[in-house]
Amino acid sequence: MAFDAHIITGYPQMFPGPLGDSLAGRALDDGLWRLNTHNLRDFGHGKHRTIDEPPAGGGAGMVLRADVAAAALDSVTAQAALPVLLPSPRGRRFTQSMATDLAAGPGVIFFCNRFEGVDERFIEARQPIEVSLGDYILSGGEMAALAMLDAILRLLPGVMGKVESGSDESFSDGLLEYPHYTRPQSFEGRDIPAVVTAGDHDKLRAWRQQEAERLTRDRRPDLWATHKPRKN
Ligand code: SAH
Repeated sequence: MAFDAHIITGYPQMFPGPLGDSLAGRALDDGLWRLNTHNLRDFGHGKHRTIDEPPAGGGAGMVLRADVAAAALDSVTAQAALPVLLPSPRGRRFTQSMATDLAAGPGVIFFCNRFEGVDERFIEARQPIEVSLGDYILSGGEMAALAMLDAILRLLPGVMGKVESGSDESFSDGLLEYPHYTRPQSFEGRDIPAVVTAGDHDKLRAWRQQEAERLTRDRRPDLWATHKPRKN
C-alpha cells in the first residue's frame, strides 16, 4: 500500500517541490507514496479567510489561530489516523531512527506553520509530535517537512535502487559513513587508496569499518560515545 503523506500548510504550492524530482519524484509517479496537501486558508475566518492574528499581549509577527489549526487538522485526522508531526525549533531533534519508524508505518501528517508559530492551546489540545531539524530558525515548517519527508521516503521499499544502500549509510549503525571514490584513478596527483581497488573484499570491508570509526571518533564524539559495535 502506498505511503500517505499529508501536508497541512498555508503554502500548498511548495509541495512536492524538490520531492517531485529524482528518487522521491519517481516514487511519487510510480504510486509508492501519495501526496495530499491541505490548504490552511480553506479553514480561515471571514471574507479574507484569515488564519493568523497578532500575538495576545503584544510582540512581533503573527500567530496562527488555534481554532483554524484544529479545524484543519481534524479534517485530515477524520480521514486518516496517522502520526502528526509539527515542525518546530523547540521540538525534539528529528533523527534517522524516527525516519525509519515512520517509513515502516502507513503515513504521516505534517502540520506546517509560519509566522511566530501556532497558538499554544492548539498544541495542548491536539498534542502533535513537535520535531526540529536543528538549532536554527527557518521561516516556516514547509522546508523542515520537505527535508524530513525526504529522509522518510527514501527508506520506503522500492524507492532506492539497491536495498543495501539504505542500511550501509551514516547513522544506520551509529557511525558516519566511510569515504567514497570513483573514476578517475588519479585526480590532481591523488590516487584512490590501493585497498579500495585491490579486489580483496574482506580487507576492503575492514578498511571501510576502520575509516567509519575513525571519522566518527574525530568528528562526532557524541555519536562515538553511544556507538555499539554490531555483533555479526
Ligand atoms: N518564533 C519561533 C520561530 C518561528 S519560525 C521561535 O523563536 O521559536 C516559523 C516556523 O518555522 C516555526 O513555527 C516552525 O514551524 C518552523 N521552524 C523554524 N525553525 C525550525 C526548525 N529548526 N525545525 C523545524 N521547524 C522549524
